[in-house]
Amino acid sequence: MFLHCLPMMQLQLVLDDRPALLAEAHRRLLRRFGRQGPYFRLDPVSQLVLALLGGRTRGKISQAAFERLVLSFESWAAVRDAPLAQVHSLVSAVTFAEAKAPRLKQALAAITAGDDRPCLDHLACRTVSQSLVLLERLPGVGRKVAAATLNFSTLAKPALVIDTHHLRVLRCLGLVSPRTDLCKAYDTVVPLLPSCWDAEEISQHHHLVKRLGQEVCRHAAPRCDLCPLLELCPTGRRRIVAGGSQSAAWCVMEEGGRTRPGQRSRSF
Ligand code: SF4
Repeated sequence: MFLHCLPMMQLQLVLDDRPALLAEAHRRLLRRFGRQGPYFRLDPVSQLVLALLGGRTRGKISQAAFERLVLSFESWAAVRDAPLAQVHSLVSAVTFAEAKAPRLKQALAAITAGDDRPCLDHLACRTVSQSLVLLERLPGVGRKVAAATLNFSTLAKPALVIDTHHLRVLRCLGLVSPRTDLCKAYDTVVPLLPSCWDAEEISQHHHLVKRLGQEVCRHAAPRCDLCPLLELCPTGRRRIVAGGSQSAAWCVMEEGGRTRPGQRSRSF
């Protein structure tokens, strides 16, 4: 059907092509920043621990806390069974360490299998949706930690990690509404991802959007004039028209493996 034959409302629906917008944003971010990484994939339990430590904490700090645990104990079972005070002292530099330390031990206990070893290998034969449900039952595990465990680890499942930076960009692009939380944003955006993207490409998408949020679409001082997504972004166009006087704060509601030498760490 020719577009000029469509009534205005239908035309708007045809042009409301959010999957195409998301794919075009991805292409532009790849052109600007290049491919991210490489990143080392941890086993699922280690990635869960790293992600649990990473909430609201700088990547270098959570990574260092994670490495202190790895160097101090011979296994995750030993962390599970260690005195809480010892675990807490090793992770005390991360934000909310007093809450994260007991939750970490509880989560490790909850995923302990018959051989007395914390294990998430059984998730390999489950769908992403089933795996998210199981992981989000664990203490301290929300959608971001669960998705990171599935996508970043050796499970390499097609789950999308959405952090605060990522969520801010999604709101500015109008892909989710200003009041959408992380969970709702996940449910909205994952169906928009190109079906040909595998876990690695979805991981790239997360890192690219996050980098944009850290370096260009910053909370306090977005640089719309330098943004590769400006042509796609209603918020940015409004800011430019208004003379760049608005911060991105108004479209924002909110805001974890060990790496080999030469490889970049993942931060949250
Ligand atoms: S154009 Fe501005 S508001 Fe939009 S994503 Fe870029 S920096 Fe953020």
